Amino acid sequence: MLATPDKNTVLEQRRQAACPRGVGVQTQSFTARAQNAEIWDVNGKRLIDFGSGIAVLATGHRHPAVMAAVERQLRDFHHTCFQVTPYESYVELCEKLNSRTPGAFAKKTALFTTGAEAVENAIKVAKAATGRSAVIAFSGAFHGRTLLGMALTGKVHPYKAGFGAMPPEVWHVPYPAEALGVSVEDSVLAIERLFKADVDPHRVAAIVLEPVQGEGGFYIAPTALLRKLREICDSHGILLVVDEVQTGFGRTGKLFALEHHGVDFDLLTMAKSLAGGFPLSALTGRAELMDAAAPGGLGGTYAGNPLAVAAALAVLDVMDREALPQRAEVLGDRLVEKLDGLRQRVPSITQVRRLGAMVGIEFRDEAGTPLPQFVKRVQDLALAKGLLLLTCGVHGNVIRFLFPLTIEDAVFEEGLALLADALLEA
Ligand code: PMP
Repeated sequence: MLATPDKNTVLEQRRQAACPRGVGVQTQSFTARAQNAEIWDVNGKRLIDFGSGIAVLATGHRHPAVMAAVERQLRDFHHTCFQVTPYESYVELCEKLNSRTPGAFAKKTALFTTGAEAVENAIKVAKAATGRSAVIAFSGAFHGRTLLGMALTGKVHPYKAGFGAMPPEVWHVPYPAEALGVSVEDSVLAIERLFKADVDPHRVAAIVLEPVQGEGGFYIAPTALLRKLREICDSHGILLVVDEVQTGFGRTGKLFALEHHGVDFDLLTMAKSLAGGFPLSALTGRAELMDAAAPGGLGGTYAGNPLAVAAALAVLDVMDREALPQRAEVLGDRLVEKLDGLRQRVPSITQVRRLGAMVGIEFRDEAGTPLPQFVKRVQDLALAKGLLLLTCGVHGNVIRFLFPLTIEDAVFEEGLALLADALLEA
């Protein structure tokens, strides 16, 4: 008798037939339900979630306070389009983000739906406010898959390959990373070289950076870079755009990663953990810049959807009530302690980088060659054992940790034990 194929296999076949391969899928584990830091697939297999749907669930799957807020909102209305008949919760969230983002200056906020859209709108505002057209971003950066997001992204494969000419006047300079042999001075020199060889600084509207490169490899921007960029921006009338789509909302030990540096932004983008899994992004900026675009120039049909806004307001409460930024430090400490204990037995761990709970492990061989296959093996072994891990890095040789900050101690310890088993077995 032929064995019946398991549900994941059947769904995977349907996926391959119905969905384009361009929407790459990491696992063949189709989700049935999830709670806090655990996912159960359609076969009933349990996974401990150290990925949070790519940095989205700082407050975990189905946080009761977030669910209750969305249910309350569902009973009143779930869509009007803010640009047609506005609602108070949108305004309230903007007020909160204006006051909670770092920097003691007048701010305004606009809401959107995805991270890429927030970045796109940051550049639109920067262009409208400065009357300039060029933008500088960093190699290894990730800013989204829309046309401009893709142009700003500093990695060709798989994000730009095959998609034709990029929008003009987007320039890349190296992001400082000890592991890649790039110093802050190298990055600054590259910008100065750009100003000499390629683009008049007075044409540059914005410099865009992630305070910790997410997809790029969890490289952490040193304060010296942020200060230098602020100086360059101020001396040439360029705007500093800080992309906190991945670093935002408690993960780095502060609500925003920029708080580690004491440097002011001009425009700041957020998404992911902002609304605990409901599609919402935000652009906060200096009030006078945010007003540069004419009425109708910003927005979107679904931008600032009431359900997502209700979720975001609840997320902000949970961040405070459960002291999640502080919890990020505790969890990050525990993870690094565990990794320290393993380093002798796993010599390919060449660097552990950490800002709060944003931890990345880089793997290379003795000659310094990146080890993406080793990382893939660890990831596969972990998955088989019931632990979902994400990777990153231009060479795919970094494991990154993005567990919910609400993860229960026992589940976290179980996850760490599975991680150790996978690392030792790989
Ligand atoms: N910016 C950063 C820093 C990101 O990490 C991401 C998503 N990984 C984006 C922008 C794009 O966000 P989205 O996928 O929601 O468009």
